[in-house]
This record gives sequence, C-alpha cells and structure tokens, in this order.
Amino acid sequence: MLLYHRTDNVRPVPDGLGKGAQPVRIGAHLSISAGLPAAGRQALALGANTFGFHTRNPRGGAARTIGADELAEWRRFQAEHAMGPLVGHLPYVVNLGSERSIWDFGVRVVAEDLLRCHAFGAAAIVLHPGHVPEAERPQGLERVAAGVRAALAQAGPDRCHLLLEGMAGQTGEVGATPGELGAVLDLVGRPDGLGVCLDTCHLFAAGWDLRTTEGIDAMLAAFDASVGRAWIGALHLNDSKFPLGSHRDRHARLGQGELGEAGLGAILAHPFLSGLPLIIETPVEKTEMYAEEIATARRLASKGAAPCAG
Ligand SMILES: [Zn+2]
Ligand SMILES: [Zn+2]
Repeated sequence: MLLYHRTDNVRPVPDGLGKGAQPVRIGAHLSISAGLPAAGRQALALGANTFGFHTRNPRGGAARTIGADELAEWRRFQAEHAMGPLVGHLPYVVNLGSERSIWDFGVRVVAEDLLRCHAFGAAAIVLHPGHVPEAERPQGLERVAAGVRAALAQAGPDRCHLLLEGMAGQTGEVGATPGELGAVLDLVGRPDGLGVCLDTCHLFAAGWDLRTTEGIDAMLAAFDASVGRAWIGALHLNDSKFPLGSHRDRHARLGQGELGEAGLGAILAHPFLSGLPLIIETPVEKTEMYAEEIATARRLASKGAAPCAG
C-alpha cells in the first residue's frame, strides 16, 4: 500500500512535525533551478510548508546535477523548517502511451527522476499517464502500464513515490476517469510507492462537482471503487477557468474560476482532501503572487476547520 501522508509513512516529512498536529501541508509550484535551498527559502517567504517543482526542464532536457554542498544545505534547511512532503512533476513530453522511441525516452526519464528526487528527500513525483488515440485504447493502456513497470524496475526499490495524475479528459489523455487510473494501477500490479495525484481543476473539468461535500464524496466513492483512497497521494489545488464537465485543462487563480471560493472552501474543509499535500499551480504572473494564493487557501481551510455555528 501507499503512502507518506496521513499517520504512517512520513519519511519525507522531517522529525518535529508531530503526528498529532498534522497541519495542512500546502505550497505552490516553484523552480528549483537556482537550487533547492533557494526554493525552500522562497516557499517559506510565501507562507508555504511544502512545494512542488519540475523534476527537470518541462520540455524534457538534461537533468540538473544536484551537488553535495547543495544537498547538505538543503537537508539542514528541510530539517529545520519541516518543509515537505515535496511533490515534483515530470516533464510533459514524457508519454508512456506512445511508440517505441518516445516510450524508451519516457521510461528512462521517469526512472532517473525517481532516483534523483529521492536523493534530496522528495516524497513523490507526478506523471501525466500519457496520450493514446481512442482507437488504440486497450493496447495503449498496456503500453502505459508497461512503461510504468519498466521505470519502477529500472529505478529499483530505493526511490520516491510515483503518482499518476488524474486528467481533465482532453483528447487522447489517459487517466481522466477513476476507472482508467485504477485499470493502469492494476495492470502495473499495484507495487508499493505507486499511486495517484488528483487535481481539483482536472476533476471538475472531468465532470465531478467538487463545490459541495456531497459532490466530493461522490467523487471519492467512485475512486474508492476502482483506485482506492489509500492510493491517492497528493492534490493539485487549482481553480478551473472552464465550467463543470468542460474537459478542458485550464487552471484559474484560486477563487477566480468556476470552483470559486465557496467550492474551494468545500474542498479544503473536506477531511480527506485537506489531509493530502496540496500543491497550487495557478497562473500567477510572478512567483511572489503565490503568497496570495496560499493565504487564500489557508483562510478557506481554517474556515472549514471552525466549528459550525448551527
Ligand atoms: Zn500535471
Ligand atoms: Zn492541469
């Protein structure tokens, strides 16, 4: 089974984060190109206690080497500030649903990044499962699963978690339904440290109305039936530019999209969803503006936690 959140496997969260306290783990997508300690300091300045990052250039270029000095400084920083669990994102060009040469490239990148990110204590990296034309669906899912299996085998047991992202359902996207995500997990064989990352914008675009507790519970019941709640390891917290069921993956600033503050409030008040590491990937003009997004999320989360006045 999974995972690092909740009460058990808190490996990526340094000691000092009491199990009883479990504060909401929230951060934004930051760049680590200027070094992990710089990203950590930026996260602190934004009011975050975790962050997301691209494992390498999103176009899939060569990976940056993280040297011993950077690693040592980062370890000290992470321990001092209890920063985590870090949730990375693999390049968008990785497509395990594709033909051989692209598939080979994808397997190598996923395997390398599972190890590189584990080396600096990241909890998990997130992968878009892939693209497969409708006509090739069953074989395409097999290719995705075989790619995941190959990447995990190449990386070996000492790696971070791999989370397959639930998608909005744009043309050809694999993983827009709980059934398809569950099918891929089953085809891979559900090894330890494999799981799923949800995205509030993608779920809403895929047709799950997360604006009410009932809607969230209906979504989770569907995931329980084919994925299993224990396999959900992280949540991308984004508003949606387009309406319910649009199947369009376009993020909006928190409170400024179709989910709105009320909808995001329902999400952040939900005991299961708010217990996941929350990574914001909204279209801010400058990274500093994530401070507003994080403050909004914290305000909505604390509203949910307050006792109901009747
Ligand atoms: Zn993503
Ligand atoms: Zn998205």
